Amino acid sequence: MALFDFASPANWVQSQRGFSVCSICHAWPAQAICTGCIERFAQPLVRCPVCALPGFASACPDCTKHPPAWDQALCAVAYGYPWDACLARLKFKGDSAFAGALAHVMQHAPGVENALDEAHAVLPMPLSPERLRERGFNQALVLARHLSRHKTISDALLRIRHTPTQASLPKAQRLLNLVGTMVVNPRHAAGLHQRRVVLIDDVMTTGSSLQTAALALRQVGVRHITAVVFARTDAPTLVDSDEPMGVGENARHVSHRLGSA
Ligand SMILES: [Zn+2]
Ligand SMILES: [Zn+2]
Repeated sequence: MALFDFASPANWVQSQRGFSVCSICHAWPAQAICTGCIERFAQPLVRCPVCALPGFASACPDCTKHPPAWDQALCAVAYGYPWDACLARLKFKGDSAFAGALAHVMQHAPGVENALDEAHAVLPMPLSPERLRERGFNQALVLARHLSRHKTISDALLRIRHTPTQASLPKAQRLLNLVGTMVVNPRHAAGLHQRRVVLIDDVMTTGSSLQTAALALRQVGVRHITAVVFARTDAPTLVDSDEPMGVGENARHVSHRLGSA
C-alpha cells in the first residue's frame, strides 16, 4: 500500500497535514519554524533574571536599584531578525495557527516550563475592546492557550480604556499612557490572592505594559509574578524611578521627566 493515496482531494489534503515550509528559511518539508532555524536564531542568552535584559547573570543594576512590580521575567528570543517578521505575522495577519510554533519556542526557553508548572494561573496581557475588535483576536491569549490551555484565564486582566498604539509613543509617555488602565477582573480577584501567576505577552519593549499589569495584580494580593514574553528588545526597562513603583509615584515620576525633558 502506498504511503499516501492522492486519488481523492480529501486524501491529498490529509497527506499534507504536518507538512509546510519553514517561515524563516523556507525549507520544505518542515514545521512552521524548522528546528534548524530555532537552533540558529533562538539560542538562549544570559539574561537578568528580573527583567530579562541580556548580559547579566544576576539582577542588572536597574533591577537592583528599582525592582519592577513583577518577580521574574523570561524571554525566548531577542527582538529582531527573523522574529520581528514572525511576530508581525502573528499580530497583524491574524495567523493564530502560527502562534503554536512561536509558543513552542517560548516553552523551551530556560525557566519557562518550570514557571508554567508552578503557576496557579496563566494570564495573557489584555487588549482594549477597541483593539480587539480591530484585530479580531488577542495574540497574547493565543500564545497563552498554546502554553497552558487549562491554566489560562482569558479575562483576568482588563484594560479599562483605550490607549493609542504604544509603538508610536516615546518611552516615558508609554507608561503615563498606561497608568491606571489595567485592572484585575473582580470575578477573579479573590481566586488570585496569594497565588503565583505567569503573565504572557508577545513582545517586551520598555516593560511599561507588564509593569501596569503587575501593579494591578499586586493590588489584589498576587504573591509571585513571572512575565514570559516571546521577544524582548535589548533596551533597559522603564523601571528607573527614584521612588518605589506605586501607580501614583510612577505617574509623578513620569510627569516630572516629561516636564523636565
Ligand atoms: Zn527554517
Ligand atoms: Zn534587570
